[in-house]
Amino acid sequence: SSTSTNSIFDELESQVRSYCRNWPAVFTTAQGSTLQAEDGRSYLDFFSGAGALNYGHNHPALLEALVDYLRSGGIVHSLDMHTTAKRDFLTAFRERILAPRNLDHKVMFPGPTGTNSVESALKLARKVTGRQHILSFTNAFHGMTLGSLSVTGNSMKRNGAGLPLTNSSKIPYDDYFSGAIEDFLWLERVLGDSGSGVDKPAAIIVESVQGEGGLSAARPEWLRALSELCRAHGILLIVDDVQAGCGRTGDFFSFEEAGIVPDIICLSKSLSGYGLPLALTLIRPELDQWEPGEHNGTFRGHNPAFVTGTVALERFWSDDAFSTRVKQRSAELHDGLAAIAAGYDGAVVKGRGLLTGIKFPDDSAATKVAAAAYRRGLLVETSGPEDEVLKTMPALTISPDELRSGIEIIAAATQEVLG
Ligand code: PMP
Repeated sequence: SSTSTNSIFDELESQVRSYCRNWPAVFTTAQGSTLQAEDGRSYLDFFSGAGALNYGHNHPALLEALVDYLRSGGIVHSLDMHTTAKRDFLTAFRERILAPRNLDHKVMFPGPTGTNSVESALKLARKVTGRQHILSFTNAFHGMTLGSLSVTGNSMKRNGAGLPLTNSSKIPYDDYFSGAIEDFLWLERVLGDSGSGVDKPAAIIVESVQGEGGLSAARPEWLRALSELCRAHGILLIVDDVQAGCGRTGDFFSFEEAGIVPDIICLSKSLSGYGLPLALTLIRPELDQWEPGEHNGTFRGHNPAFVTGTVALERFWSDDAFSTRVKQRSAELHDGLAAIAAGYDGAVVKGRGLLTGIKFPDDSAATKVAAAAYRRGLLVETSGPEDEVLKTMPALTISPDELRSGIEIIAAATQEVLG
């Protein structure tokens, strides 16, 4: 408790109960994939701010652009006013991301965080279709505000808010390892039968990889079948790429491999590239039916975040080199984790890209391995409704050596815990 006099945590314990109970250190500085703590120890980061630090901590090029912008008197807060920082970001986003992928989506700034993007997507889908029901998936995570929470699959999180399942239903999320495309047949039948009593949904919201829900990854064919089902029934497809987007899977968008074009795309986390809050919602042009003022907010579009975001887009997404590099690191990570999993009966590798982990047969193993890894100087999280998956999420800029060291720590920590 905060009555002890010499704890370095005294001041920190005055905050409400934090979810960070597993890393008893006070961090000071960070560079790339390494964090320093007050006690002099350094830690390798396989967590990356839950996906907000895809380019690592304090990337020098982004830092320089940010400091230059602030020193030159660049405007920080501008509400909805046009700024050069916003224009440059929109130009870079169109030139580096949308145009090369033949996407003509309009860009909306929904508020500062991922949940704001999801809220705007749900609201827009309901407004445009005139329908209310939203389908989402078991174990999905879409955010902590009432709308995004109502489509979040984890009932423990929903129950905390006393949130009933009004206007949202969960359908089983097919796993990369199991199931067939025919899984959508029952849904087709229900939607096609006016006597089924099921409200036609306004939208289906999906993550290509369930970042919080246990790293289940949708197979490309499954995503294509989902997209076709939506099109056939006039249901909008929302892809929540808040965690799996911005390059996490190797491509800028997690759904590129599947070749689908979602009606609405949610992005946030690594969009600024620097850990500054920034979110956007991409919508097909014909969905741009907001009246002015129908969805607004004070912190929509943070100019310093536009500045670092622009540099990140220019630097990492001007050609395919970065994507190729991320895919190489992803293969190394996958192989490294697969070699560890191979030593334990029933352990499997889950996820995609640099969002990959190990599910051990014993649900409590991942938490223990993460704690053992922390003691050995690696920050690594767990994922899944029972925290049953050890989730690795290194920076996309991680070096092969750093990646190898992290995998070695996981191997040693697993050995320590499971023998
Ligand atoms: N969607 C997904 C897929 C996420 O992983 C998260 C955050 N973990 C969110 C939405 C919510 O984002 P935020 O915490 O920035 O509101």
